Amino acid sequence: MTAPHTSTPTVFDVQRIRADFPLLARSVHGKPLVYLDNANTSQKPVSVIEAVNTHYREHNANVSRAVHQLGEEATAAYEGSRDKLARFINATSRNEVILTSGTTQAINLVAYSYALPRLKPGDAILTTVMEHHANIVPWQLVAARSGATVKAAPIDERGELIVEKYIEMLTPEVKLACVTHVSNVLGTVNPVREIARECKKRGIALLVDGSQAVPHRPVDVQALGCDFYAITGHKMLGPTGTGALWAKREHLESMPPFFGGGEMIREVRFSGTTFAAPPHKFEAGTPNIAGFVGLAAAIEYYQSMGFEAIHAWEQNLLAYATERLREIPGLRIFGEAKEKEPVISFLLEGAQATDMATLLDLQGIAVRSGHHCAHPLMQFYGVPATLRASLAFYNTREEIDAFIVALLKVRKLLM
Ligand code: PLP
Repeated sequence: MTAPHTSTPTVFDVQRIRADFPLLARSVHGKPLVYLDNANTSQKPVSVIEAVNTHYREHNANVSRAVHQLGEEATAAYEGSRDKLARFINATSRNEVILTSGTTQAINLVAYSYALPRLKPGDAILTTVMEHHANIVPWQLVAARSGATVKAAPIDERGELIVEKYIEMLTPEVKLACVTHVSNVLGTVNPVREIARECKKRGIALLVDGSQAVPHRPVDVQALGCDFYAITGHKMLGPTGTGALWAKREHLESMPPFFGGGEMIREVRFSGTTFAAPPHKFEAGTPNIAGFVGLAAAIEYYQSMGFEAIHAWEQNLLAYATERLREIPGLRIFGEAKEKEPVISFLLEGAQATDMATLLDLQGIAVRSGHHCAHPLMQFYGVPATLRASLAFYNTREEIDAFIVALLKVRKLLM
């Protein structure tokens, strides 16, 4: 990855790219929309919208249940999405990719199907202070059932994980270690390879929450060396209700199913049911077929752009936005890690985050305010909430300028 720089890349035609995202052209409260809430959910290109539309218009049927033409087309499209996802994250096999409704379902699957059967009183699960609730609460639920505990590795003021502490906390009672690849609040990129190496040395499986990484950087699960990697589709240009869990085959083979029902069985008898092989063993019921057709189109979109270009543009925007925000008196930025993805959390002295977000919205600026599903992180910084501007490759410097102008107006109103 290249270091952040402030010169404008010349080969990146952002206006052409923006034309692919119809929603970016709308206005809000009579002002041009400036969408800076991409870590919450990204906007969708026409190719994704059209793929979903075409699926319903021309190919709609259930998967794996019908031998008729439409059933075959729907199944091929759904399974094709699994193939694309497997290649996107460099899984060794498509059978290691479980299609889920998002990261939350993916992590819960690991919690109930991998962790719970292995946990006994006195065991522990290690996570970190900077996690989204999706990488905390499932562990608390299974810990409560099994008599295990949840430990959280600390971070420093800059918002970086204290990696030596994390490693020190990988004690023999830890049965599973967890970490986010990129923080949804701070933008911090965690050193997953190093953590994975240390976990492996100790025979501890590692789960990585990749929700905020896959929209910004190429992910290679084999190179990372983790055991589980969870992603959510709607933050990476895809439809809501899509996502995936990648897991090493040996884990999937040892894990019992989490949901029971149609699609996941080999044979059902009242004397006992046998299950399909992974990945279908974990995919009970009718999935979000059209959603995954859209997700396949989202992956194609990323591939057509290439992460090198995306990364250069986004890092440039991040550096510019950070620089502009730092000029505002009384503005505090949360998260100043050396390696960041384009997420900036901040507060203005004397102003409530929600009031500011509401006033910014009136000027067409969409940012998120609140705890960002990261209560422990808010507790660490001693604040109830922050504002968060999160960028995507379709954002522009002009939008950041508009955001700063609006912010200065809001500051005047509230001071
Ligand atoms: N993990 C992180 C880091 C996130 O940012 C989010 C969403 O905000 C999630 C998990 C949960 O994703 P989903 O709600 O799509 O399952």
